[in-house]
Amino acid sequence: MSSILKTNQISWWRTTFGEEEVSRLAEAVAEEHVSQGPVTKEFEDSFAKALNMPYAVATTSGSVALLIALMACGIGRGDEVIVPNRTWVATAHAALMLGAEVTLVDVEPEIPIIDVEQIRSKITRKTKAIMPVHLNGRSANMVEIRNIAKEHNLHVVEDSAQSMFSKNQQGFLGTQSDIGCFSLSPAKLISTGQGGIVVTKNRNIYDLLKLVANHGVVDNFTDRWIQLGFNFKFTDLQASFGIVQLKRSEERIDRLHEIYSKYSEALQQADFPFIKLLPVNIGSGELPLYIEVLCSERSELMNFLSSEGIQIRPSLPSLDTSDYLNNQETFPNSKIFNDQAMVLPCGPDQPMKNIDKVIESLYKYASKRS
Ligand SMILES: *Cc1c(COP(=O)(O)O)cnc(C)c1O
Repeated sequence: MSSILKTNQISWWRTTFGEEEVSRLAEAVAEEHVSQGPVTKEFEDSFAKALNMPYAVATTSGSVALLIALMACGIGRGDEVIVPNRTWVATAHAALMLGAEVTLVDVEPEIPIIDVEQIRSKITRKTKAIMPVHLNGRSANMVEIRNIAKEHNLHVVEDSAQSMFSKNQQGFLGTQSDIGCFSLSPAKLISTGQGGIVVTKNRNIYDLLKLVANHGVVDNFTDRWIQLGFNFKFTDLQASFGIVQLKRSEERIDRLHEIYSKYSEALQQADFPFIKLLPVNIGSGELPLYIEVLCSERSELMNFLSSEGIQIRPSLPSLDTSDYLNNQETFPNSKIFNDQAMVLPCGPDQPMKNIDKVIESLYKYASKRS
């Protein structure tokens, strides 16, 4: 069960950095721009522009993006934050790190996205924020979430880590609430090694984000300590990669679409009884970052594909499976994704011939099985 890949194996995700990233980095070093400075500013400005947003703040990770977003909303001890039960645990941990409590809400039966019908009954006097997660480019129902937030005077922070440049009818995901948070870690659309970036339309929130990411000071020549913050600064070294990766985002988006259509056509044609693609709404602008499938015999198929040199990523566990995140409540819709979901090899630099090989191996498994 080693996750270390041999060179002839196909990994579940593939992303690359090239000469252009390296030369932009060399330029920054030559200009002595290594910590947060003009290159970070250039990256933030280009990212904001790409999403038609006025403000962006880059930070150390997508997780910290969520953390500073909640800090800028004033979330803290005694507050409750609504989080979907299906997400990378970072969404919940950001709230817990601030001393807030997490209120889990189940997802829809067909897609692992927060079920807005179940949000209202979970709101208490302590609820301060809702964190919709646009998992794998799929939009949460933002119109309804904004309505609920307005009724109850709540902040909305979008976890858009898996939905950079993905859209719904209203536009880009991550731009439809108080703050949108993105990740720049390797298994995301574009990467700076580690990193995260936050966008907002609100000038006050922008100022707060800048403050909390730098110990509450505007610059390091302050004459007194104004408010609690921490060092969550991005670096010009990372920003050098980010600027080039951002330029390459269009070609990456094209490749992700190409991979999705390839799998989607092949699975439709084969009609395997043991595997079902979890669809993404391409028509409305959603971008499938990963190829997620449901498989009723997941461990058998994973073992078989592993013997074929193919690495599969099983779905993340639902948050309610950890006792520090849940006590005794059940989440029936989440359970199917928890038990059956997995990710087939994909990623913006996954060679198309690897996709062919995965499909070939699925046929092999099907014939062995019957
Ligand atoms: C990747 C991810 C994060 C956290 O991003 P990091 O940059 O890895 O800290 C948060 N939420 C979701 C849904 C993610 O997929």
